[in-house]
Amino acid sequence: MSKILVTGGAGFIGSHLCERLLADGHSVICLDNFFSGDRDNVAHLLGKPDFTLVEHDVTDSFHFVVDEIYNLACPASPVFYQSDPVKTTRTSVLGAINALELARETGAKILQASTSEVYGDPAVHPQNEQYWGHVNPIGLRSCYDEGKRCAESLFFDYRRRYGVRIKVVRIFNTYGPRMAVNDGRVISNFVVQALRGEDITIYGNGQQTRSFQYVSDLVEGMVRMMGSGDAFSGPVNLGNPGEFTMLELAEKVLSKTNSHSRLIFKPLPEDDPKMRRPDISLAARRLKWQPQVPLDEGLDAVIAYFREKLA
Ligand code: NAD
Ligand code: UDP
Repeated sequence: MSKILVTGGAGFIGSHLCERLLADGHSVICLDNFFSGDRDNVAHLLGKPDFTLVEHDVTDSFHFVVDEIYNLACPASPVFYQSDPVKTTRTSVLGAINALELARETGAKILQASTSEVYGDPAVHPQNEQYWGHVNPIGLRSCYDEGKRCAESLFFDYRRRYGVRIKVVRIFNTYGPRMAVNDGRVISNFVVQALRGEDITIYGNGQQTRSFQYVSDLVEGMVRMMGSGDAFSGPVNLGNPGEFTMLELAEKVLSKTNSHSRLIFKPLPEDDPKMRRPDISLAARRLKWQPQVPLDEGLDAVIAYFREKLA
């Protein structure tokens, strides 16, 4: 049994990770400032003796005696991360430094939740970990993309300089129950709009692609990465290589919800990547991992979740 800190543990992914770590018999400290997460996401864990919820902002230092740290604190939806961009960069960068300092102090292993956004609007397709990316350093998405890139750089410098045992996973678009109704990302938007009979908002012409990973697959990959030998730090891609246009996604959601919502077209946000698909051969080789939940199955679960939430 390990003592594990999950920063951003009350968020969408964090709450599933906390649940999994508790089920594996570990003791979990969930640290969150509830900027984009919600106490409700972990309300069902509060009574468990091995679970502690701490309200704290990762830009201020924190101290716990732990064996492992999963660093997830950071808003992930463009709507949230662009609402206070300076805060987003501070969260990524100062949050990473504070988490790494704790790892250095305690000797804990530490995993960074990085992102496919480090590849920007990619010129290489599918994206493998050798690709250095194509990121606008001064655009609306930069607070998130560059913040996450700087965090990766800090992780590798703490390894080189101080011997901290680091793990970096690059997460591709992930979805599942407990995404917030107002999250703003595409799957929650389309499902909520379809269920409410509101117009489905396609940004641009809808031909841009994304690869969608169900949250349980991601959590399995993160746990395997944390459990891998110290010699393997990554970065490693975690995502589902199934690639869909936003129009294909909208059609799937409409047919699965039997909705009569109309598709409407809105301007494409600045620097919106045209395509995304992970090359997951490294994860397959080093972690013996590959996603198990196809989009059709995951969408059914998310639709059921939002149906109940909106009822
Ligand atoms: P989320 O917004 O639901 O979760 C982030 C959590 O971090 C929230 O609970 C939020 O309140 C908390 N947080 C934000 N700023 C904080 C701060 N300063 N101090 C303490 N807590 C803070 O988003 P998510 O989708 O669960 O993403 C979790 C992590 O995974 C993020 O680091 C994100 O960048 C990364 N990621 C997610 C995706 C995805 O598709 N969901 C893709 C790539 C990377
Ligand atoms: N998108 C869309 N309608 C929406 C929300 C998003 O067409 O209501 C598009 C968005 O422009 C992007 C894709 O869906 O091309 C994925 O967007 P999301 O915000 O989910 O993630 P990210 O762009 O960070 O991959």
